[in-house]
Amino acid sequence: MTFATPFPDVKLLVDGIWTDGAAGATIDVTNPADEAVIGTVAKAEIADLETAVAAAHRGMKTWSARPPLERARIFMKASALLRERARAIGEMMVLEMGKTLPEALGEVERGAEAIDWLAGETQRIYGRLIEPRMPGVRQMVIKEPIGVVAAFSPWNFPVNQIVRKVAGALAAGCGIVVKGPEETPASCAELVRAFHDAGVDAGVLNLVFGVPSEISEFLVPHPLVRKISFTGSTGVGKHLAALAGKHMKVVTMELGGHAPVLVFADADPVTAANALVGNKFRATGQSCISPTRLLVEDSAFETFTQAFAKAAEALKVGPGHESETQVGPLANGRRIEAMDRLVADAVAKGAKLVTGGKRIGNRGWFYEPTVLANVPLEADIMHEEPFGPVVVVNPFESYEDAVAEANRLPYGLAAFAFTNSSLTAANLARDVETGMLSVNHFGLGMPETPFGGIKDSGYGFEGGSEAIEAYLQTRFITTSGI
Ligand code: NAD
Repeated sequence: MTFATPFPDVKLLVDGIWTDGAAGATIDVTNPADEAVIGTVAKAEIADLETAVAAAHRGMKTWSARPPLERARIFMKASALLRERARAIGEMMVLEMGKTLPEALGEVERGAEAIDWLAGETQRIYGRLIEPRMPGVRQMVIKEPIGVVAAFSPWNFPVNQIVRKVAGALAAGCGIVVKGPEETPASCAELVRAFHDAGVDAGVLNLVFGVPSEISEFLVPHPLVRKISFTGSTGVGKHLAALAGKHMKVVTMELGGHAPVLVFADADPVTAANALVGNKFRATGQSCISPTRLLVEDSAFETFTQAFAKAAEALKVGPGHESETQVGPLANGRRIEAMDRLVADAVAKGAKLVTGGKRIGNRGWFYEPTVLANVPLEADIMHEEPFGPVVVVNPFESYEDAVAEANRLPYGLAAFAFTNSSLTAANLARDVETGMLSVNHFGLGMPETPFGGIKDSGYGFEGGSEAIEAYLQTRFITTSGI
């Protein structure tokens, strides 16, 4: 496949101007398929952050005063621009993140759909009237934008992570400062550019990159910032939630998971295995809802494991720009180290390495689709989210055993199941401690459906009508005699 788009040097968007930042410093951007430096991203200084927050605060006064229909029209223009530019954005995403072009194009389209959804939601911000106890009293509940948002979005879905925060905040009428992912800045900047070019008022939407801890230490306590939205690891999320709590800021946290998949013997194990392979290795397993613990009822275990391993071995791993590639490289060298460590630890503790288990070549962060079976609970991978192309397949004896294993970890983001029994499906909905459960398919993450976790996977939802609620605050007004 020929890529026509040169990789850009990415700038910050501060107060409506694309800028190199106060110091003109940059961070290198690397192509995970060959480890070559392909461009740079501007690094924000504190002065840039201060300007961005002030601009968001000032800009949201005009933005939130626009009639909802006007905001909706700007949203529809932004999604149209995103679709027009999809091929160029997709190419940038392949080069900076490693995913395949079809995956990247699909992500851009999902981003446009999220904007379309929120174009509708921005017109459906409702308050309510409450019947009074006394005549002449009027009791009103009003919803209004919560204030300036500081959002932190990661590198695994450079468009789709940021779109939920930007579109949600703007739909509610908020100003926003987004810290984008330094590893994958270009496609994320294009999402912001689509909103900017579509006519969002200057200053309302700001994009910065830099040293993540420096940026969060400045933005979270900033008195003009009222809302924090973070997607990333549970460790960093707990740190930011604590900081936000100290400064009484409202928080949405989309954190890690370790998604169990309960495969019951009444489902066809080969069909389930083939469906799971397609989903597990999407984005090279670097998704917070990636299936990671496949729990298979005893009588189906061997058939399932063989079918899954066979389909995993048949996957073509390679650079995302090659048309036959099905699984791209990992996004950075840290993930290769993590895969090697998790696999070696599991095998040393008695797991069976069914297939895969090593890096491919020594240039580019490619890793074999890897299946570990009969993994003991002491193995690190049974506690730590692999976030890569490695999966555990373990047998279970009874429904109760499967549910106990699914609920064993403090995570509760996504869970999946395959069963032909509607009773089992209903019981799972009651018993599995998870923010999202998908039975017999992979139906999560649409713009119109809520997305989020419980327990250590965070709090707050993105998507659905919850997407805008997260950026609104409720106030109560009561009057008498007028
Ligand atoms: P990491 O924990 O260093 O970073 C995760 C994300 O948090 C990155 O986007 C990073 O820029 C940001 N971050 C880190 N420290 C921060 C701080 N002090 N303030 C603000 N933002 C900060 O890990 P990593 O090596 O980049 O990614 C590996 C792990 O992160 C994975 O194992 C996975 O659990 C998690 N992760 C989750 C998601 C998700 O979609 N939930 C996405 C990316 C990474």
